[in-house]
Amino acid sequence: PCSSHEASPISENNEKKHVHGVSELIVGVLGGGQLGRMLCQAASQMAIKVMILDPSENCSASSLSYGHMVDSFDDSATVEEFAKRCGVLTVEIEHVDVETLEKLEKQGVDCQPKASTIRIIQDKYRQKVHFSQHGIPLPEFMEISDIEGAERAGEIFGYPLMIKSKRLAYDGRGNAVANSQDGLSSAVTALGGFSRSLYVEKWAPFVKELAVIVARGRDGSMVCYPVVETVHRDNICHIVKAPADVPWKTNKLATDVAQKAVGSLEGAGVFAVELFLTEDGQILLNEVAPRPHNSGHQTIESCYTSQFEQHLRAVVGLPLGDPSMRTPASIMYNILGEDDGEAGFKLAHQLIARALCVPGASVHWYDKPEMRKQRKMGHITLVGRSMGVLEQRLNCILSEKSHQVN
Ligand code: ATP
Ligand code: MG
Ligand code: MG
Repeated sequence: PCSSHEASPISENNEKKHVHGVSELIVGVLGGGQLGRMLCQAASQMAIKVMILDPSENCSASSLSYGHMVDSFDDSATVEEFAKRCGVLTVEIEHVDVETLEKLEKQGVDCQPKASTIRIIQDKYRQKVHFSQHGIPLPEFMEISDIEGAERAGEIFGYPLMIKSKRLAYDGRGNAVANSQDGLSSAVTALGGFSRSLYVEKWAPFVKELAVIVARGRDGSMVCYPVVETVHRDNICHIVKAPADVPWKTNKLATDVAQKAVGSLEGAGVFAVELFLTEDGQILLNEVAPRPHNSGHQTIESCYTSQFEQHLRAVVGLPLGDPSMRTPASIMYNILGEDDGEAGFKLAHQLIARALCVPGASVHWYDKPEMRKQRKMGHITLVGRSMGVLEQRLNCILSEKSHQVN
């Protein structure tokens, strides 16, 4: 089934066409969450057509998309049918049916980034193996399949010990920490037990978390966005500060590691590289997302080319845009659901009302059909002349709330 604003299917052997620099390809996006929505917003400015595949009829991206196929992005027949309507396929979520993408690629369907990239990334353990084979620094890790294995890992890596689900993780939902050997079994249970494939990571004693968005065009050209600092709360991204306040050397190292990591993956698009900065100035890779990412939302207001525009440019084969900042500083604040249902909506709307009174603040509301506690419902970006000023302004917006920045 397709919604009424869907376009008529285009031919399968669709030639790549550019009209005045704007592409006539239909970009098919697997997933229609907030990232899909912001891709649609960027696409509409550039006269690029984005069609989405998402099972939820009123998902975030639906109303802004050129077409919406209401069905699962994890079902083979559906993904095949969707591919026929699009000139190039891309993703806003990595938990998609990668076998089908691989099959379609063999039949000549254009997937950007490549299915091989999605395969590596959708399994975090496989991702870690891949990056360690490519000489990227990361926390030590090992597979575990029973409680004895977890105990052995604890003896080798010490505590706290990070236990992670290999697949289907987001917003920290696949992570559990064991603070001692006694805590292992409850951490494993919290992740659904060993019926889910698990692995462990040595605790990374980071002083800051950093992220770098790297874009690669179809011709292989690469550009990097400025390094940002991400602040997580309860494993969920809470605040992003751009640029990160780190020494020049750290900046260079983080950018080099990010570029090297993305260089080991195939295909065009933007990639977000999450990093840990340790006390002794080391950079360790946490994970990579093969798509636009929460750590790049502030690029909409603070960079010459947003990560969403950049992703579209990359996948349709337009020249990459300028990733540099056009404002001295920016802060992005995620609006997370504070409560389920109406109570949550009310709190979020009060927050937005306060943000609208602050100079340099932009509000993004994702228009999700349901409000749930800890769900990403929108974000606020502040731009201005210094990080100090922006922190004050954000504190002003958050003033009615218990949590403040710093
Ligand atoms: P995302 O929403 O970014 O996809 P995720 O569910 O994939 O998140 P991770 O990125 O693996 O989860 O971890 C979430 C957060 O947990 C990290 O940003 C970091 O704060 C913390 N974390 C993850 N791995 C480690 C580690 N080995 N040591 C210490 N902290 C860690
Ligand atoms: Mg993740
Ligand atoms: Mg992460």
